Order: sequence, then C-alpha cells, then structure tokens
Amino acid sequence: MLGLILCLIPIPIMIWNFFLLKKRESISFEMRKGWICHCCKKSNDMTDVQKLNKILSENNYHICTSCSRDRKLKILRYPILKWIYKFWDEFTMSSSISHYSKIYIGLIFFLIAIDMIFLFNGLKIRLSVFYGLLNFIYWILNTSKTYYTSINKS
Ligand SMILES: [Zn+2]
Repeated sequence: MLGLILCLIPIPIMIWNFFLLKKRESISFEMRKGWICHCCKKSNDMTDVQKLNKILSENNYHICTSCSRDRKLKILRYPILKWIYKFWDEFTMSSSISHYSKIYIGLIFFLIAIDMIFLFNGLKIRLSVFYGLLNFIYWILNTSKTYYTSINKS
C-alpha cells in the first residue's frame, strides 16, 4: 500500500512541473554562464565582451558578494548547510548531472523489472516502496530545480 502511494504521489508533482514550465521563463543558461548571481538571480555588472568570453568557457556559475556572505553566516550557524549548498550548486548548475540522472532512472527501471520478474514467478518481494521512493525523490528534486532555475514571465 505504501509503495502504491509512493508511486502515485509523483503524478500531481509531474502535472505541477508541466504547468510551472509553461508559466515560468528558464534562466539556467544565464545562471550557468555566471551572467547573473544564481542565488539572488540579480544581474552581475558585466560588459558584453565579458559576457561573450563567458559563453565560450565552461560552466562557471557565480555568486554575488552579499549572497556569499549570507551563506557563510548561515554555515557558521548550521555547518551541515555547507554540504547542502555544495550539493545544490552541483545539482542545479553542473551539466554532468544529467549523466547521473540517466543512471538514476535506469536504477528505477531495473528495480521495476526485477519486481515484475519476481511477481510473474509468484513471489512478492515488495520493491515498490524502494522505486516509489526513488521516483518521488527524483520528481521533487527535478521540480525544485525547474523552479530554482526559472523566473516569472514579465
Ligand atoms: Zn546574489
């Protein structure tokens, strides 16, 4: 029962993600290239030449001075935030994360396939809790990423 609930929860999240994408404008390219601060989403003061130079280089996301100071102050209070910020920056800004997400989705399908094979052979091993949970985490992270790397259309 828990597995079924975990398998069904991502459906409203998927629908919300779809409508979120329609209503919001993606700024992930500008964030990845460091044109705008990826924390407060305010534009850095850069000339057009500097922007063009950043296009040719690899991902070099940038965080402005005030956001960097705020983060350091929060890390002093809650040290675990250091790892959370590190994960979040890599997850939202790195292009190599799509490679890991393919492996992650592959793992979900692998668990579903194993569950099906055992089910057809008459054994209930109840893997649905695991792949339901993995699927739920995937959609929560994906929707958060979409929300974080987009702004309201003006
Ligand atoms: Zn900032």
